[in-house]
Amino acid sequence: MAAFGSLSTRLTETLAKLRTKGKLSAADVDGTVREIRRALLDADVALEVVKSFTAAVRERALGAEVSEALNPAQQVVKIVNDELVTILGGESRRLELAKTPPTVIMLAGLQGAGKTTLAGKLAKHLAGQGHTPLLVASDLQRPNAVTQLQVVGGQAGVPVFAPEPGNGVGDPVRVARDGVAEARRRQHDIVIVDTAGRLGVDADMMRQAADIRKAVQPDEVLFVIDAMIGQDAVATAKAFQEGVDFTGVVLTKLDGDARGGAALSIRGLTGKPILFASTGETLDDFEPFHPDRMASRILD
Ligand code: GDP
Repeated sequence: MAAFGSLSTRLTETLAKLRTKGKLSAADVDGTVREIRRALLDADVALEVVKSFTAAVRERALGAEVSEALNPAQQVVKIVNDELVTILGGESRRLELAKTPPTVIMLAGLQGAGKTTLAGKLAKHLAGQGHTPLLVASDLQRPNAVTQLQVVGGQAGVPVFAPEPGNGVGDPVRVARDGVAEARRRQHDIVIVDTAGRLGVDADMMRQAADIRKAVQPDEVLFVIDAMIGQDAVATAKAFQEGVDFTGVVLTKLDGDARGGAALSIRGLTGKPILFASTGETLDDFEPFHPDRMASRILD
């Protein structure tokens, strides 16, 4: 997986330059921090996140916790690595399962973020762990969304609850509620509710997502965000946080030449953990998110 393309290259090149130096001066540290700052900004990482990241790296590098085992250059690499782990969320966090099944997981995000694909990936992943998920098609906005969910459900070997065809325009809140009731009746232990997005942040979409949330009282609301959306990540994430609120984040399209902005900003902007990463178009291109592993891939 190409973890953050050019950002990764620039950070590793910046840090590699320190290797030829025996001892690091304050000017060396400042020069390195400036290059890191520029690389992060060019990768569309949110300014407030860049500021806190570079301040932490600078302070720690100047304070240089002296380690017998590491030379100064290695110490800076370790500091940058540690701070990347921190902005990516520190510890990895797993899904919260309800004490009394079914666990209700609602997906929210812009159209095209990868929600429907993600629904299939998550369902397959959970089924592989012995769960019995039910997918619920509450995205009635996009003409093909229901069929698309049925296709990914079929690929994942997971049933899909969908509104009856020809049943008028359809009410996504009702479909979500009926889907959860169906899961309870058929003893599925997890329900994944796919919801409608729009191309941009939109009041109707937010209201609908908030209504679905209220109706089904999910245990997890996962905000699905395209890792490539760059600077728009800030406004989009904040709008979803205010409009729907969410308990965790899924990053999609990390396989592209993602500049990394959304991925590195989202935790700092929202305070919410990243739970999963989507890394391609097939159902197996999916993994639980581990901040430490992601940081190592960026600095690889
Ligand atoms: P939704 O509108 O949020 O439901 O988004 P979709 O699930 O329909 O995904 C939009 C497009 O992005 C589709 O063409 C997917 O195949 C594609 N897609 C979804 N996730 C990924 C991913 O992780 N990597 C890549 N390369 N494409 C993805």
